[in-house]
Parts: sequence; C-alpha cells; structure tokens
Amino acid sequence: MARPVLQVDNLTVEFPTRRGTLRAVDDISFRIDAGEVLGVVGESGAGKSMTGTAVIGLLEPPGRISGGRVQLEGARIDHLPHDQMRRLRGQRIGMIFQDPLTSLNPLYTIGFHLTETIRTHTDRGEAEARARAIELLTEVGIPAPAQRIDQYPHHFSGGMRQRVVIALALCAEPRLVIADEPTTALDVSIQAQIIQLLKRLCREHGTSVLLITHDMGVIAETADRVAVMYAGRIVEVGPVREVVQNAKHPYTEGLMDAIPKIGGRTEDLAQIRGTMPRLSQIPAGCAFHPRCPRAFDRCRQERPELLDAGASRAACWLHAGEPAGAGTGRGGGERG
Ligand code: SF4
Repeated sequence: MARPVLQVDNLTVEFPTRRGTLRAVDDISFRIDAGEVLGVVGESGAGKSMTGTAVIGLLEPPGRISGGRVQLEGARIDHLPHDQMRRLRGQRIGMIFQDPLTSLNPLYTIGFHLTETIRTHTDRGEAEARARAIELLTEVGIPAPAQRIDQYPHHFSGGMRQRVVIALALCAEPRLVIADEPTTALDVSIQAQIIQLLKRLCREHGTSVLLITHDMGVIAETADRVAVMYAGRIVEVGPVREVVQNAKHPYTEGLMDAIPKIGGRTEDLAQIRGTMPRLSQIPAGCAFHPRCPRAFDRCRQERPELLDAGASRAACWLHAGEPAGAGTGRGGGERG
C-alpha cells in the first residue's frame, strides 16, 4: 500500500482542568492518501476541529496531545518544535478557515499576502512570485486579477475573499490542505461554488484534503471517504458513497436526515434529539445512547469500538455480529 500523505494513529487530545482532565479527542486513527479528500463530520463539540488543530500544531494551551502520533509523508510531526511546525504550515500543509479574515490581514494587499507566502516557501523572486500570484488568482476565479491583486481584503466580497484564501493555501503547492468549515460563513448561494472550486483545484494540484464540516451535504458532494465524529471519537468511517447511501451508525443516519432535500420543506428535516454531551459529562457505554432511537441495554453499559459493517466500520453494537478483523485492536479509527 502506498505511503499515506497523512497518517494519524491513536490521537488523543486532553485539557487539564481544576475538575480533572477533559478528553476532547479520544484515541482516533485515520489516514489520507495522495490526492484524496477525507471529510470529517459531526456536530459542534464532536472533536473534529480539535483534530484538525492538533494535526497542524495549533492547539491552544492548556490543550495538548497526550497520546498517539501524527505523520506527514512518513515523518512524525506531532512533536516538532514551534518554528519547524510553523514552516511546515504554509509550505507542506495549507489551511483554510471558516472566516477568510482569519487568514487575511486587512492592512495588506491581496498581492502582498500571496507574494510573501510564495517567496517564503519557494525560491521564486519578487517578479516571479507576483506572476505566480496572478496565475493563482486566475485559477480561483478572481476577475481582472492583474488589477485586483493590488486591492485590499475589504474590496472583496466574502466569497471572493475565500477564493483568495484558497489561492493562499495552495501557494506553496502543499501536500495537504486542512479546510475547517470553509463555506459556513458564506452565503448559501456561493457555498457550492467554493466547494467545487476547492475540490477541482486540489484534484488538479494533486493535493490531499482534510475537510472538516458539520454539513453532511458538503461531505456527500466533496469527499472520497468520510469519518463521522461524536464526543471525541470516530463512530463511523468508510467510502463516502457507502456511508451516505447506507449509513451504519444511528448518528450518521441522523446527520443524513438533516440534509435538506431539493423541493423538500424545512419543517420536514429530521433533527437528532438532544445535544452533544459536554466533555465533562460524556455518558458511560455508547456516548450516543441518550440520543439514540435504537439504544438497548448493552449500549448503556459497554462502549462499542469500531466494528466491520460491510464496506465501512461503525462503533455501534447493532453490528456486533460482524466482529472487526485484525486491526489495531484499539478504539479509534481506521486500520492503517
Ligand atoms: Fe445506538 Fe446502541 Fe448503536 Fe450506540 S451502540 S449507536 S446507543 S444502537
């Protein structure tokens, strides 16, 4: 099997507090192959953004990686010094956040952002970097890029700013892009355009993507594989077509039922009852059992690990008749 671009093994993220240690990401494993889009989906508080933040070394103290490892193209990156990790971000890992203004300084022109990033991470000189920046703006669909490159972020609409951020993320031809809710702050009418743009450009550049979103519809449109997270753990993982058409975990089914259907009425959208538990109040047994319409006695007592369920894997006792094959033997995710 070819070496994955990103390999995460048994990753655990904890926050020490006065009342004890809270576990925001609990022993999860996954891989992303070259050119692949892995979608990580779940409600707010599921641990998906924390996973992305841990991978790129941007956890806010006192949060820390307390277990597991993260490898980029076979080399461990979870213990790199701060300055090495900063170089890695931008050069080999591009980032796209929900709010484009997180990545764009209002005091600098779009051209300054792009050319500085290109010059920092490649050996291009100033003129070459500017030419490349104009090329990138063209690629992401900015009209009249040779003129607009000298404008400031506030001259651009939200959608156009996010296109610029995508160009910025791709400046140094990174091997991996981490996109955290890249369309959530945008008008619904342009969300699909941005997702399609991201997907097309990453395919053309051969870039792998870790796409983090609460929206199963975005995953269905974009990802090759999907990992569904709940209460810090991966509860279902598999090829996107399989998971979307044949969800095995009741939580995934709930997320699927919440996708608006063309011609459907808003009031017809099923909601998963209840809310994601606080980290300090994760229920014993299956963490989803208080919300699960199919819970039974065993669910309240024993926590299910990921079990083989056809072409995907699901952490649900409903699939206990199909024991997992030789894997890590531990909780959290995919076999590497
Ligand atoms: Fe529902 Fe039980 Fe499956 Fe958890 S293990 S998702 S409570 S059926």
